[in-house]
Amino acid sequence: MSVPESVEKRIEELREQIDYHSYRYYVLDSPEISDEEFDKLYKELEQLEDQYPQTITPDSPTQRVGKRPTGQLKEVNHSSRLYSLDNTYSEAEIRVFDDRVRRILGHDRVDYYAELKIDGLSIVLLYQKGRLVLAATRGDGVTGEDVTENARAIRSIPLKLREPVDIEVRGEVFLPKSEFEKINQDRSEKGLAVFANPRNAAAGTMRQLDSREVVRRRLDAFFYQIANPGDYGLNTQAETISMLRQIGLRYEPNGRLCHSVEEVISYWKRWRDRRHDLDYAVDGIVVKVDRIDLQDELGYTSRSPRWAIAFKFPAEQAETTLNDVSFQVGRLGTITPVAELEPVQLAGTTVKRASLHNFEYIRERDIRKGDTVVIEKAGDIIPQVVSVLSEKRTGLEKSISAPSSCPICEGPVGKEKKEDVAMKCLNPGCPAKTEKRLALFASRNSMDIEGLGEKTIERLVEAGMLSNLADIYKLKKEELLALGKGIGEKTAENLITMINRSRSRPLHRIIVGLGIPGVGVKIARDLANYFGSLSVLRDATQDELESVPGIGVELAEKIYSFLNSKIVKEELDILEHELEPEEEMKTVDKTLKGQSFVITGSFETLTRKGVEELVISRGGIFSSSVSKNTDYVVAGSSPGSKLDKAKKLGIRILSEKDFLALIDGDDT
Ligand code: NAD
Repeated sequence: MSVPESVEKRIEELREQIDYHSYRYYVLDSPEISDEEFDKLYKELEQLEDQYPQTITPDSPTQRVGKRPTGQLKEVNHSSRLYSLDNTYSEAEIRVFDDRVRRILGHDRVDYYAELKIDGLSIVLLYQKGRLVLAATRGDGVTGEDVTENARAIRSIPLKLREPVDIEVRGEVFLPKSEFEKINQDRSEKGLAVFANPRNAAAGTMRQLDSREVVRRRLDAFFYQIANPGDYGLNTQAETISMLRQIGLRYEPNGRLCHSVEEVISYWKRWRDRRHDLDYAVDGIVVKVDRIDLQDELGYTSRSPRWAIAFKFPAEQAETTLNDVSFQVGRLGTITPVAELEPVQLAGTTVKRASLHNFEYIRERDIRKGDTVVIEKAGDIIPQVVSVLSEKRTGLEKSISAPSSCPICEGPVGKEKKEDVAMKCLNPGCPAKTEKRLALFASRNSMDIEGLGEKTIERLVEAGMLSNLADIYKLKKEELLALGKGIGEKTAENLITMINRSRSRPLHRIIVGLGIPGVGVKIARDLANYFGSLSVLRDATQDELESVPGIGVELAEKIYSFLNSKIVKEELDILEHELEPEEEMKTVDKTLKGQSFVITGSFETLTRKGVEELVISRGGIFSSSVSKNTDYVVAGSSPGSKLDKAKKLGIRILSEKDFLALIDGDDT
């Protein structure tokens, strides 16, 4: 059958859209559309490819699972391929699944094990003699990312099992809902983009290069699969779960053996209505053929097992009126449109506002003021407007346009680059930005100025006493007292003391506080170690910035243009005179100054963290991947591909003993 041109075009279009949304979802952890919308596009493509198999190309999204890792973390090749799951939202399709399974097996009746589907991030753990040696993400199913360091920071992942087994288990890392809400609140206060759902927040956290952040974010994990179950004498999924429990791994406790598809459907209905009672997001159930020999008989398609299917819950939706649109301005000036809604009940809470993401989103869906809109909670948490009921229009609806000036400062607005989706306030002195920048600067990770919280900052900005970071150091006690209400003698005095104390914060904290896009604590430390002082950093060329391990072309460009923008330059000219940064706290000597280290494998007497601290304390730089700029690779037992790469590049390799000798100044 030849392929009509219109079909070819549609296939092309669908592939492009699916690739774009997969990238946003898997790589940026910031999806724009709901899973249901995504799955609809995906199904449409699958059906067209089914009808016209000659159109299938190896790079079609239907032939792949997830996305290849971004290269930030070390890559890991899985011992066997990790699959995704076929999915459905409908009872009818679950019956079709059951029919197909029974037909292929030639059985009248098949037992299914039904489990809740946790909305998190797939993870594989490898234990040798009961000790955790590797944790990896699924990635594209063949290659994942090494997240061992971060997995070790999750309390519910045991470093040692209750039995000394060699075993590979698979499961899901997730963020409890309560934790997710806290993180988002915190992010929105800091002017950072909020995570769209707990899955993306968990994925973003697991990919963090700083495992201290993982500890802070209280990730959790459930396990549901054992690789090569036959090696352990396991016959069913139910037995797998028992074994997981026995060896000390956490599992979701609400799984159930179902003797028919009817029982599966009632399990699904029960949890569809009760899922809000759980403190973790579940987006459906997973139905698995219980007997492992039957699973083997059914086998796999290129993407998913034939013996399992995800039976997803419909996203809960509600209809309401969009009364108005307001605008929020973030720390970097991004203007986000927010829908002001007629309050409506949705999934257990009253929703009054919902995100509209950006003006492109509004235009694509033709959302207007006065429209009846459908709202949905992404990952059951953040409400968003998903569509307009245009049949309910009265003709009085008004189109929504981007503001012609900043809603906060009335300054000019526009896109920084032509291809940007985000609209920004272009006034560098916009108080919305100023307030958020000041709050970041005063925050705990940065200059840690107790008493200079958001409320106080807002008042000081309003009173004209703060308009940039340097102004903080010019504040006088009398001026603070003049603000009145809530600021008495003691408060003012304490605040001045705290401000003065912050003058000596180490350089990396100052860098964090500047709010350079893309620069968090880890990169700030690397910059501080490399350049040693604010003035040297300010003088750095783009090339010099690029030569700091871990900083690529793009980030170097961002840092350079940030530090050299007029407003920041002027601000830093003053700030530099106000600050007397102490030596980076942990730098006890400079024997390793400027030298870059990478570690791989595990050590006998030192922890990886310990190695990191010893390097940093001597002025060295720590990096997660090997490049031509790496000076040393410290290799312990069972090293990974970093060692091979180091050998290829001729980089000096140190054993644990060599490393300790180097630290002791005995560089033989
Ligand atoms: P999936 O989330 O639909 O299901 C497979 C995953 O479920 C498994 O890999 C596993 O990690 C997880 N899982 C949770 N509990 C489980 C259990 N008890 N047993 C087995 N597995 C369990 O598939 P996926 O491949 O991770 O992601 C694809 C889905 O992601 C799409 O169907 C879509 O819904 C969503 N997506 C959305 C967008 C978007 O823009 N909104 C983009 C890309 C993908």
